[in-house]
Amino acid sequence: MDRVYNFSAGPAAIPLPVLERARDELVDWRGCGMSVMELSHRGKEFMSIAERAEADLRRLLDIPNGYRVLFLQGGATAQFGNIPFNLARAEDKADYVVTGSWSKKALAEGRRFLNAQVAADSAPNRHTEIPDPATWELSPDAAYLHYCPNETIGGVEFHFVPESPAPLVADMSSTILSRPLDVERFGLIYAGAQKNIGPAGLAIVIAREELLGRAREGTPVMMDYAQQAEAGSMLNTPPTWGWYIAGLVFEWLLEQGGLAAMEARNRRKAETLYAAIDGSGFYANPVAPHCRSWMNIPFTLADPALDGPFLEQARAAGLLTLKGHRSVGGMRASLYNAMPQEGVDALVAFMQEFERRHG
Ligand code: PMP
Repeated sequence: MDRVYNFSAGPAAIPLPVLERARDELVDWRGCGMSVMELSHRGKEFMSIAERAEADLRRLLDIPNGYRVLFLQGGATAQFGNIPFNLARAEDKADYVVTGSWSKKALAEGRRFLNAQVAADSAPNRHTEIPDPATWELSPDAAYLHYCPNETIGGVEFHFVPESPAPLVADMSSTILSRPLDVERFGLIYAGAQKNIGPAGLAIVIAREELLGRAREGTPVMMDYAQQAEAGSMLNTPPTWGWYIAGLVFEWLLEQGGLAAMEARNRRKAETLYAAIDGSGFYANPVAPHCRSWMNIPFTLADPALDGPFLEQARAAGLLTLKGHRSVGGMRASLYNAMPQEGVDALVAFMQEFERRHG
């Protein structure tokens, strides 16, 4: 069997030991004679899987007691709307920092449900920089401040947590678990699973308890975080398979040495690729160095006519899903936790050889 290096932005690579364990447990989960997919979500077997996954996530991120962890459906996109319904009334204000496609989408959805204000927008420099926080226009009465710590498409990442008088709300879809996090700085963190957590179909919300329980009148029950928390994320049938695989990923991360170990690995992987890009006159990354993403690294070739041959030859070398997002073109290498250093080294060797032949 040949595993390739998969640089997809999501659904993304899952650690091989996790896939192998899932395979081994597939038809008979620990002697119960059924697969996890067939287990009742309310039975003791699945309850043990669910509880272990939450406990391991809490350990990894050092989530304090005053925070609730939810395992939901609807992806990160559903949270764009759930957040205003849970944290604000229709007439309230909330501030949004726009640093790329995903924060812009969150803003657009927020605008449908409350008075969403733009605190800062990096559109004038084509989302290649984070506006200096000293220039952000924060509303004194905002219900929350929303931002996207890592813009998956543009490859712009905050390497700091902004100060905010209002509860900080972060779309961490493409950066969660890539390094340690000070959860206490946040009111609410959310992430779609299909990058650093596990399979698509699951979203994780980590919310400060005191912010919950104020959902607007008329909020559908599935969208109400407090009701979900009360029901252990089992108001209805939860995404059991995704929850189980996420749990295996959390176990794998703990075995690897937790998030401090992942931080060191992820930093090194990103440095390897940026050094190769910056050291060549052939490849380029447009993002200001202080806010370059460790997780998603877009780059262009000197001649876009070479994009096709680059992708074709990369594929033949076992380096897959490098095509950039349709909105920016070029290439994008996503280096989530499951991408080993060897994959990045192989990509860099390929890029150098390609430049030598075509540059
Ligand atoms: N936010 C970010 C930062 C993302 O990268 C994505 C998916 N690429 C989304 C939100 C949307 O996620 P989902 O498909 O889970 O709704």
